[in-house]
Amino acid sequence: MNTTIIEHQQNENAYATFRFANLSSNMQTYHIITYGCQMNRSDSERIAAIFDSIGLKAIEHADDADVIVVNACSVRQTAIDRIWGNLERFENIKKRHPLFTILTGCVLPSDKPKFQSKFDAIIPMKEIQRLPDILSSFKTLQPSVIQSPIVDLETKNKQKQTVIAIQAKRDVEISDDQQSEIALRNANIDSKRPYNYFTNTPLVPISQNTVSNTYLNLRPKHASRYSAFVPIMTGCNAFCTYCAVPYTRGSEENRKPEEIIQEVEDLVMNKGYKEITLLGQIINKYNSRANDALINYLERFEAKHQITLSFLSELKNSEKRIFRFHHLLETLGNLPRKFWLRFTSSHPNWFTDELIATIRTTPNIPKHVHLPVQSGSDSVLLRMRRPYKIASYLRLIEKIREQIPLAAVTTDCIVGFCGETEEEFEETMRVFQQVRYDMAFIAQYSPRPDTYASKYLNDDVPKSIKKDRERRLNEILRQTALENNQRFIGLTFDVLIHSPLPFPKENTRGVVMSSHRYLGTTENFKNIHVTADRELPIGEFASVKITEANPWGVKGILVG
Ligand code: SF4
Repeated sequence: MNTTIIEHQQNENAYATFRFANLSSNMQTYHIITYGCQMNRSDSERIAAIFDSIGLKAIEHADDADVIVVNACSVRQTAIDRIWGNLERFENIKKRHPLFTILTGCVLPSDKPKFQSKFDAIIPMKEIQRLPDILSSFKTLQPSVIQSPIVDLETKNKQKQTVIAIQAKRDVEISDDQQSEIALRNANIDSKRPYNYFTNTPLVPISQNTVSNTYLNLRPKHASRYSAFVPIMTGCNAFCTYCAVPYTRGSEENRKPEEIIQEVEDLVMNKGYKEITLLGQIINKYNSRANDALINYLERFEAKHQITLSFLSELKNSEKRIFRFHHLLETLGNLPRKFWLRFTSSHPNWFTDELIATIRTTPNIPKHVHLPVQSGSDSVLLRMRRPYKIASYLRLIEKIREQIPLAAVTTDCIVGFCGETEEEFEETMRVFQQVRYDMAFIAQYSPRPDTYASKYLNDDVPKSIKKDRERRLNEILRQTALENNQRFIGLTFDVLIHSPLPFPKENTRGVVMSSHRYLGTTENFKNIHVTADRELPIGEFASVKITEANPWGVKGILVG
């Protein structure tokens, strides 16, 4: 039997191999549809890598694909609506040629049954390594349901078996071997993870919540040749009352530091990537036990790149030996190449003084902080189970602005959360006026099934009021963002060039223009239109002087 190898990043130097039977020859192409955040996009890059490694080809049009994967997110209703919008299309494709459809991603337990009869397979993201198994069984399995273990967080640590529904029409019974494999999986359910919602106690000791060999360690097929997402953790233990993430992604798991460092080092030093965005639900909570192997690894890293990690000797001699997020940032940010090391999303409770100092002093870390506030009212924050007070949030912003004066500050905010009064909303408006955000992602609250808020709180703010509150916050934002951007006029920034902009060859008087225009991003995360007197390479840095500002970006000219 032919076999195919999927590389699975295992440790500093080695890649373990998983071997799978080749897929049936009639499956040759795949198409991935992604709805969701950067984490979903990053997950899709890993799915693409799996398909490529088993010989399937990515194609642009879903209509021609043999396999379609929908990698979706239940965190917002819009994504779920878009999945429904695709189903008729899939049915039509199936009338023309065989098609295998797979649903994966952040799908809420209560959304899964609705889709069970609509997709050929529903696979938890943490099990996407099994894709080749599932596809190769397409020809041999009886229409059936395979039980696959994941932890049901909703019922606080009770075991629950998530159904992977294999709906394909097939005519052979499940073999004894397959039955026993299923039984074995069910017996190995990872279940007992104590958690205290209110004290935010970690689910497991640090040494145990650092995982290796998860799907996150699969080598992704990056969509961009110069900008990459690198997940460093997945899941969340915070259980904000409005949020579906803990139910869709499960409990917090941190990747091993060596694996993250190796991945970023390879992208930056060998492949020339210019922008790396580290991803995690509460990214600044990342930590790992610094055992001797990690200390040795970091010492070799210092020697290899001829750099000094300021924290290393203290970490080595400390009693607890915990490698924290700011240690990871300092390590990666000191790689001796020019690139930008971004990260998202942070939580105010874990935004430490050490982290601020690391952003300030480490080369390659852009001066941009994304710090979700969610509401400016203490009482709303309490209902949201966000464990900070607005006064402490504002003190934190003040500290960041004092220590990193040109830092752009962006946020996420929800308007119209359960019971939000006009007075509570006005507190949020005051926070927006005081912080003077550079950008904010403002969402009107909508309940997500399975969450605490959807079960126990009333979604009692009328839609029209939510819409109006979003508009009022956007007005403040438009003004503060404009004023912030105006501060940059006359300053010169490094800009990463993303794409050319259409530009008329002639101006209105018929004079042939010699300029080139590009869309880029500044270090502090501003969209920028760049005018240059020559062609600029995409995915490279350019030095640009800011000449104009508007609320949602700036304009500038190439210098040098
Ligand atoms: S911190 Fe809260 S909002 Fe963020 S992912 Fe976790 S539960 Fe969701």
